[in-house]
Amino acid sequence: MVLADLGARLRGALSSVESGSDEEINQMIKDICSALLESDVNIKLVVKLRDNIKLKIKSDLSTSGNNMNEKRKKLQKIIYDELCGLVDSHEEPPKPTKLSVNSSKTSGHTVTKIINGKKVKVTANKNNVKESSYVIMFVGLQGSGKTTSCTKLAVYYKKRGFKVGLVCADTFRAGAFDQLKQNAIKASIPYFGSYLEQDPVKIANEGVEKFKQEKFDIIIVDTSGRHRQEQQLFNEMIQISEMIAPSQTIMVMDGSIGQAAESQAKAFKESANFGSIILTKMDGHAKGGGAISAVAITKTPIIFIGTGEHVNDFEIFKPSTFISKLLGIGDLQGLIEQVQSLNLQNDENHKKTLENIKEGKFTLRDFQNQLNNFLKMGPLTNIASMIPGMSNLMSQVGEEETSDKIKNMIFIMDSMTQEELESDGRLFVKQPSRIIRVAKGSGCPAVEIEMVLQQHRMMSTMAKSAAAANPDGTPSGGPG
Ligand code: GDP
Repeated sequence: MVLADLGARLRGALSSVESGSDEEINQMIKDICSALLESDVNIKLVVKLRDNIKLKIKSDLSTSGNNMNEKRKKLQKIIYDELCGLVDSHEEPPKPTKLSVNSSKTSGHTVTKIINGKKVKVTANKNNVKESSYVIMFVGLQGSGKTTSCTKLAVYYKKRGFKVGLVCADTFRAGAFDQLKQNAIKASIPYFGSYLEQDPVKIANEGVEKFKQEKFDIIIVDTSGRHRQEQQLFNEMIQISEMIAPSQTIMVMDGSIGQAAESQAKAFKESANFGSIILTKMDGHAKGGGAISAVAITKTPIIFIGTGEHVNDFEIFKPSTFISKLLGIGDLQGLIEQVQSLNLQNDENHKKTLENIKEGKFTLRDFQNQLNNFLKMGPLTNIASMIPGMSNLMSQVGEEETSDKIKNMIFIMDSMTQEELESDGRLFVKQPSRIIRVAKGSGCPAVEIEMVLQQHRMMSTMAKSAAAANPDGTPSGGPG
């Protein structure tokens, strides 16, 4: 089952509760648990989640009386919180900072290196260069998507103004250096590697030293993977780690590996003590649940997920965003962050929309502005899943159709009057003849105009609840 299926099943389970009877709620819990199990989530975690949901329903739902709307909201919140708990390690991933020119921190730590089978003590960074570059070491099995993710992460930081270098310390896989080199050239990222040197520890150290001398902010080191966990791989990892003393070690894990994720994560944790995880291949056929369980077991945060082979198919992982998307309840925080990455500080329309959102307002014009921004952001299917109610629709169609649908919505709003665009949409309810007029003007059936209005209402509710929850103006995702 792919993640989209899991989302559809979770949403289906929630919406199947109509009367709120005990029988219906029990069935909903059963459906949620079997959807998670079929996505490879560890059985112990599912049992714990089921018990927690039952307990919370008992305590929280008893006060709702017969108000079905309230009951449904509370149910959604309970499920949302529990699912967030499942993917949230409650650990913050470390954040690199730009190289401080005035840094006086120097290096010179002693490490043990194996040369010709003998343990030799050597001083790392013997050139006494400033050591404030942020070094990230990547570990993981071969084929997990390590090399691809190294470049994705380098591009992610480069876009944010960091000076990033890539080091290929994978001497095991033939062609590994060529692959990293090609990726790096395409993305215009400086790289380091060797076709001749066989000692990965030496290459890693030389590459890190070179980029440190050149005052790179972030140095990303790709290490060898193997087909399975094996001692030689772990020894090599330990030696590289001792030599380059990374600021952070990231484990790359294939999101589709299922239950094997747990033992893999444990084994790597013992040797490499990684501080965060990148889950790859969360597009396509990834069940994802096995890897998600590994997070809970190793208590390590997932920081990014890979959603395709392209360098931009890379998303920051936030438990609330991820679960909001799965449950199809939209994610205002995620949307705002995506829009912010477009650097729209000087865009008047965008400023007005942000002001409106702060005041808990969200006009049809705001909606139209946001849709225009989405078209600039891509990939659209990711963005659509942050909009409440759209994920169901978008899981059924592809990127092109998603784009056409958004363009059509913008086009429909072009046929609205100023008064209508500046409104909260209620005037269409009072005067349905307006719907007919917009339908004629845009050449679209009335049902499509109603869909735009419905979509706007859902976004508007999200904006209002975000403003209510955060009076200081920093909206957050999730139901509330
Ligand atoms: P490595 O051996 O761990 O360095 O793995 P690679 O980076 O060479 O990736 C192995 C394969 O997985 C390549 O064909 C990549 O294009 C592909 N790949 C990596 N990340 C993703 C992802 O997030 N989604 C998909 N669909 N493919 C990916």
